[in-house]
Amino acid sequence: MDANLTSLSATNLLKQLVRGDVTAEAVVSEHCDRIATVDNSLRSFLRVDRDNALSQARDIDRRRRSGERLGRLAGLPLSVKDNLCDRETTTTCASRILGRFEPPYDATVITRLKDAGAVLIGRTNLDEFAMGGSTEYSASGPTRNPWHQDYVPGGSSGGAAASVAAGLAPLAIGSDTGGSIRQPAAYCGVCGLKPTYGRVSRYGLVAFASSLDQIGPLARTAEDLALLLEAIAGHDPRDSTSADELVPDYREALAQPLKGIRIGWLARQLEQGVEPDVADALEQARHTFESLGAKFVELDLPHLQYGVATYYLIAPSEASSNLARYDGVHYGTRVDGSAEEIERDGALVAMYRATRSDGFGREVKRRIMLGTYALSAGYYDAFYLKALKVRRMIRDDYFRAFDRVDLLMGPTTPTPAFRIGELTTDPLNLYLQDLFTVTANLAGVPAISIPCGMTANAPSLPIGMQLQAPPFAEEQLLRAAHQYQQATDWHAQRPPLP
Ligand code: GLN
Repeated sequence: MDANLTSLSATNLLKQLVRGDVTAEAVVSEHCDRIATVDNSLRSFLRVDRDNALSQARDIDRRRRSGERLGRLAGLPLSVKDNLCDRETTTTCASRILGRFEPPYDATVITRLKDAGAVLIGRTNLDEFAMGGSTEYSASGPTRNPWHQDYVPGGSSGGAAASVAAGLAPLAIGSDTGGSIRQPAAYCGVCGLKPTYGRVSRYGLVAFASSLDQIGPLARTAEDLALLLEAIAGHDPRDSTSADELVPDYREALAQPLKGIRIGWLARQLEQGVEPDVADALEQARHTFESLGAKFVELDLPHLQYGVATYYLIAPSEASSNLARYDGVHYGTRVDGSAEEIERDGALVAMYRATRSDGFGREVKRRIMLGTYALSAGYYDAFYLKALKVRRMIRDDYFRAFDRVDLLMGPTTPTPAFRIGELTTDPLNLYLQDLFTVTANLAGVPAISIPCGMTANAPSLPIGMQLQAPPFAEEQLLRAAHQYQQATDWHAQRPPLP
């Protein structure tokens, strides 16, 4: 039996599965074996259900043998971020407050993945409620970067990115509110795509900031992202913000050459606290794109610099109202107040306070307080409303730019992954890592991160580049990324794991 199934792309595995060269059972069991070997230290998964995964795989094999027409992901192992509802498992959002939550329904994305025959092997770690950029804010403890275990994998989809980088799953589902797919993809040396707002249904995604949240794919190649996006994109009557736009054949678009494509070069981003290795990698990538026939236009989007300030008003504001439901009555593990508190405030108020104090971690509490403050009477106009206006200006910047170019290019993050613990006492600095990613969410445009280099000094860590496109132009992102990956091999680098 081939011992390398865990190093193959999903596209490649699928070919072998369809031809009958391998069984889904073999593919899934090899991935589960690898999880058992390396994930004790990485901790990218919160839960793995090996028996269930193997029985799903055997079922696919049996149906394939009987000549049944199978879904487009039939037999492929896939990891799911633990903030998407699946009625067959708990959905914890890496929070104590949802530690025992068993959703009574499946998210639309989960339904589509199951229908497509994907084998959902386990649930990946995240920052609590997807609030964070390092996976250190998980109530279950941090995930480690597969390239160097003293470093963070990024976040909030840190478990998803680590699972793909480490060869524990060829495909992963994450969510991205301000960079949570792209930033961990960059830190772990994998590919991640945040679709256009409305491209993928959010039904069954535990809400963080509803006007920014999108579900998207992570994988080791752009081709695999295309495969997975095709399976999850499309209109859903259960999500009123999902777009009624046709889903193109993303894989067909990949092969188109890049000759004549116009790429906006965000030069200013390379001056904003960007490490020299990152800037160098971007320059190199630019040369590669030029050799593929792309034309670069230097562009300045003047309001992007306000992205972090704007995002950290809007996202916490929406979070503070979305998280009001975790009160021990509607949702959340109930904790009763002490006798003393009940005596003083009454049982209900004491219970609310105990439930929320005990159930939420410190970053979630910080966001709730920030958001409640920004929305409160007297501050609403100065903060929340002002942020909405700047959001509009950022969006206008993008639209003006897309009159002139097809794509925008810049770094995904100012620096590569940082050490575990390095920024936990410095939330502002952690927020600044989101400088380049949050604006795509604010504007609703799609964006992709793909590996484009490694840092020169030890430990050598991956560097990511970000491409952004007009709404519903995911195929342009995938095509550019795929053509780049035909010409380079950064995506083929593997972390030093057993
Ligand atoms: N790092 C950002 C934050 O902390 C983005 C999170 C996300 O996209 N879910 O809010």
